[in-house]
Amino acid sequence: MTVSRDPDAIHPFLRDASNLAGGAAEAVWLPQTEQEVIQVIETARQQGKQLTISGGKTGLVGGAVPTEGEGGWILSTERIRPALLVDEASTTITAGAGWRLFELREAAASHQLFLPPDPTEPTCTVGGMVATNASGAHTFRYGATRQWVQQLCVVLASGQRLRLNRGEVIANGTTAQLRTLEGSTIKLTFSELPIPSIKNASGYFLKSGMDLVDLFIGMEGTLGVVTEVTFRLIPTPNALLGGVIFFRSLEQLLRCASDIRSRSRNPNDWLNANILEFADWNALQLVREKFPAIPGDAFGGAIWIEQDLGSNADAQILEEWMELFQRHEAMIEESWFGEREQELVRMRGLRHAIPSSVYEFLTAHGQTKIGTDMAVPEDNFEELYNYYRQQFADSELATVTYGHVGDCHLHANMLLGGNHQLAHAKLVYDRLVAKAITLGGTVSAEHGIGKLKRGYLRQMLGTQAIESMRQVKQALDPDGLFGAGTLFEE
Ligand SMILES: Cc1cc2nc3c(=O)[nH]c(=O)nc-3n(C[C@H](O)[C@H](O)[C@H](O)COP(=O)(O)OP(=O)(O)OC[C@H]3O[C@@H](n4cnc5c(N)ncnc54)[C@H](O)[C@@H]3O)c2cc1C
Repeated sequence: MTVSRDPDAIHPFLRDASNLAGGAAEAVWLPQTEQEVIQVIETARQQGKQLTISGGKTGLVGGAVPTEGEGGWILSTERIRPALLVDEASTTITAGAGWRLFELREAAASHQLFLPPDPTEPTCTVGGMVATNASGAHTFRYGATRQWVQQLCVVLASGQRLRLNRGEVIANGTTAQLRTLEGSTIKLTFSELPIPSIKNASGYFLKSGMDLVDLFIGMEGTLGVVTEVTFRLIPTPNALLGGVIFFRSLEQLLRCASDIRSRSRNPNDWLNANILEFADWNALQLVREKFPAIPGDAFGGAIWIEQDLGSNADAQILEEWMELFQRHEAMIEESWFGEREQELVRMRGLRHAIPSSVYEFLTAHGQTKIGTDMAVPEDNFEELYNYYRQQFADSELATVTYGHVGDCHLHANMLLGGNHQLAHAKLVYDRLVAKAITLGGTVSAEHGIGKLKRGYLRQMLGTQAIESMRQVKQALDPDGLFGAGTLFEE
């Protein structure tokens, strides 16, 4: 196992993709096995050090970044990489915490299998995906990471291990018992959290009668170290239709998206999108140089769709899509459609280029951003988005909006030209969060709470719910070994 106390080696671990900076750590530990993770935990406890768990550092809320001042140690899981195991019989893949999402996808694909959860950044790790309950474009059809986790291995603050297989440890109402491999029993008592039944990554999953696997999915490195995960897989689709469809009018685009959403949920409809994503005009402008085929008058923005093909209904499916786009006055001639791998890769590339270009732009101009991660129930989506637009129009801020329109979940980013805009942008952001909560939404649908959104979590769930989460944390990590400053305000 490597441990480094050299500031130059520690430095890259003091930042994630949120650009949260200012943290400090005395050492970074890079265990390769579960046994070495236990060793780090025992040493940390003996020496009274807190541990921040770090994966691929692609997180957007600072969960992997140690707190300012006395940051303790970093435990990086990126080297926990025992051989990947694809089991065709049970259609599962088992991976150590340090494997990257793109590597899992490649391994699954070589067996004609597919892992649906897909946070847009493919270099995130297995541990990070589970710890944030990450989701992405495919969540529209297939749900978030949670739905695909079959088994988890977790090392607790006591150094004892849990092996949790979905379906095996179920809470009795709001009490539960966890049994470690070493033979200890941990009793949990909690209150249900008011979790909205929409895409959500805000706080612990605490539900009456819950499966205890779910407690560790979305816990953001505060309850233990995930060392190994078994995901369910599905067969790779025989063929796919992809489309990036441009619109002159945003109103037409939103009506079209709403139509696709409801038709895709109807099992008797030919139309069944796997993906329904959105980019506004400003987002398209940002990537125009990389993708010159974007039409110059797509003022309404674009949506990106994919649907499985490969049955004898393909002609009918294509006809239904074209009829839908015509009805909603899409720019059909200028839009991109394709079924070949090369064409699909270009469309996915466009979607990935948008958030990447935002980060590149900010880095190049020494700027920061504040971006939303709220989702609301479908009936309230247009009201929320119109509110965003009205707030942005009233402010002087440059904005770029894109994201998961299928899940009523957009990332509206305010790009800050300097610190003088920060206070104003925060004020606008506070209004957007308050509106989303009023509309029955969540303050984080996929990035999590980390160190940046703790106040909003309290605003959404209330003090009692935070106390229920604290009780669970106390039962599993009584000395606060893991994730200081994440989820909970000090
Ligand atoms: C360009 C870009 C696009 C993105 N798009 C999406 C998107 O569409 N959807 C989405 O959900 N996210 C998205 N993200 C955010 C990010 O990719 C996800 O949150 C990802 O799951 C984080 O994984 P990671 O390995 O990088 O974790 P890190 O950033 O290293 O850590 C994230 C959190 O997980 C904890 N953690 C990490 N590993 C472990 C472990 N082994 N055990 C316990 N806790 C652990 C950390 O303590 C921290 O709290 C995007 C990020 C970027 C940069």
